[in-house]
Amino acid sequence: MRQASIPVREIKGIGEKTEKLLARLGIRTADQLTHHYPRCYITYPDPIPVSEVRTGIRCSIEASLDSPVHMRTTRRVKICSCLVKDGTGSLFLRWFNMPYLRNSLQQGETYIFTGIPVFKDGRMMMEQPEVMKKDKYTDQAQTLQPVYPLTAGLSNRTLRKAQKEALDMVDTGDYLPESVRAYYDLMPEGPALREIHFPVSPDRLDQARKRIIFDEFFRFFASLSLVRDREEKALNHYMIPFDDRMEAFVAGLPFSLTEAQREAIEDIRRDFSGTTAMNRLVQGDVGSGKTVVAAAAIYGVVLAGHQAALMAPTEVLARQHYETFRTFLDPYGIKTDLLTGSTRAAEKRRILQECASGEIQILIGTHAVIEKAVFFKSLALVVTDEQHRFGVRQREAFMKKGQDPHVLVMSATPIPRTLGIILYRDLDVTIIDQLPASRLPVKNSVVGQSYRPAAWHFLEKQAAAGHQAFVICPMIEENEKLELESVNSYAASLAAALPPSVHVEALTGPMPAARKQEVMDRFLANQTQILVSTTVIEVGIDVPNATVMLIENADRFGLAQLHQLRGRVGRGRAQSYCIFLSASDKEEARERLSIIGHSNNGFEIAEEDLKLRGPGDFFGTRQSGTMNFALGDIYANADIMKMASDAVDHLREEGYDFASEPAFSLDQSLGFARSI
Ligand code: ADP
Ligand code: MG
Repeated sequence: MRQASIPVREIKGIGEKTEKLLARLGIRTADQLTHHYPRCYITYPDPIPVSEVRTGIRCSIEASLDSPVHMRTTRRVKICSCLVKDGTGSLFLRWFNMPYLRNSLQQGETYIFTGIPVFKDGRMMMEQPEVMKKDKYTDQAQTLQPVYPLTAGLSNRTLRKAQKEALDMVDTGDYLPESVRAYYDLMPEGPALREIHFPVSPDRLDQARKRIIFDEFFRFFASLSLVRDREEKALNHYMIPFDDRMEAFVAGLPFSLTEAQREAIEDIRRDFSGTTAMNRLVQGDVGSGKTVVAAAAIYGVVLAGHQAALMAPTEVLARQHYETFRTFLDPYGIKTDLLTGSTRAAEKRRILQECASGEIQILIGTHAVIEKAVFFKSLALVVTDEQHRFGVRQREAFMKKGQDPHVLVMSATPIPRTLGIILYRDLDVTIIDQLPASRLPVKNSVVGQSYRPAAWHFLEKQAAAGHQAFVICPMIEENEKLELESVNSYAASLAAALPPSVHVEALTGPMPAARKQEVMDRFLANQTQILVSTTVIEVGIDVPNATVMLIENADRFGLAQLHQLRGRVGRGRAQSYCIFLSASDKEEARERLSIIGHSNNGFEIAEEDLKLRGPGDFFGTRQSGTMNFALGDIYANADIMKMASDAVDHLREEGYDFASEPAFSLDQSLGFARSI
């Protein structure tokens, strides 16, 4: 059993300031800290020629100082800079607040510089590169150095020290029976945790990862099995017949439904009149038209005199659904409202009151809809969009808003059938495998960096033709500040390269919700023609006038995520284009990208991806955005996922009582609660 509640303040070396910083990462206890895993391990790479340096890709160069280090002071920040070169080219380097470099780096001397090149102030450079002499570098290159996800103000070094202390404090007695551990050849939990932070060797690290990934999946399935126990008993309290008015609704839509959409609605109709409550997943590729299917289900519920609620993962998406639902359902005199984190207090009070009285028939929102204060008079249906973004616990909290309401979850994540059977065993599944006929398939091109000017010119031409475009910037996982800078500076360079009539704006994750909404509103109104962002744009956004998706550093994303991003275009009548710009000349990267370049079918891509990567791909690109397990990847670790699923089944048969084990309670905030 695990004692989860030693506050981080009790860890040696952690003061008030670090405590606050850790809280920003969601870390409040020693146990949570030890489950904050390195995002990767640095092995110092062999230096490459300066001419092969690429933006966004960490590398080392062995180069000499062309001139002495130059130092200037701007707004009290001391900035050191210099130019270094090897036989193939030169690169600008710059450091902030490290004045001693002026004396320690000698003109003419050769050093090894390691960092992530960025494109700034019109040129490629490295900021804050590490500097080492060759002999020290060779030493370092032997060990794996953990690199943690950070937040501004918190250093990797601080975190590393804190981990050492925390590991000694947490009780790591193993919840897994010895027999299970032996059967699946799993390392004990304690040593695995230690190894994941401070690897002794790549082999041991591999074993440790296996154990921790197993735990993530195991907890996930154990908690699902708790949900399932409960759900198996749920009777249908809300018989919802569909009558002529449903036919009128369908006939009144601005388009005719696809066959697949009709079948999905038919599945729901059948569930609504069954003996047990509906528990259905509607899985359909991006753009397959899941929203209208949800609207039909919701409309049916309202006609039968009940309420329905829909939860979406972001404010932008919630508002978009709200507007769509109003255009679909306002004509029928139905009252729909929107509740999000930025709803004003007075407005919120009114909404809560009208929800409890039953006046509001449809409530759409973000996590705000599962807050304690929200009550319904008769909630018969809860709908979750892009459900993989929510935790099991949130799904559970949502269901509790009613008395065994019908449950509908919608997901665009293309999960191959083989995996889906394991992952979604508690849900009935409908697959919408057809796109609206009016739609032209997106045209793809996979290109190298040298194509960038041509790509930018293409954006300009599309804008001149009245269309709009998305640009996805290289992902910088390092920290929020870097991410912000990279998106903003990319947007600035792009704007400078295009005529002033083309308006470019940036959208980033850390922006306040209201700012994001303003930026989105301007884009929706075509006041902005090009939206530069990180992957915040990936989920569900519907802007039919956008015809180009340009993805920088496409080789660094998983295929599933690239497919999601591409799904943002090709939604209107005009021909759309997706440009995958790749900085990698590796055969493997090219092969992966060519899969997506040749297919627009999400399920097919997922299958291909799985085949190509095979299970257990150690340093493979994580399918971030698919399932938010900390380490586990449902594609790359399909084999471990199967083991965990089998182990849960096996232990259930043995009569193992998951409900009494704290590690599996649905309230446990770590691990699986962040998944699905
Ligand atoms: P997703 O399945 O990705 O959530 P949406 O529900 O957002 O897709 O639908 C994408 C777009 O396609 C929307 O603009 C929607 O109005 C439109 N649409 C949905 N169904 C059809 C259809 N049968 N024919 C034409 N357009 C449709
Ligand atoms: Mg959608």
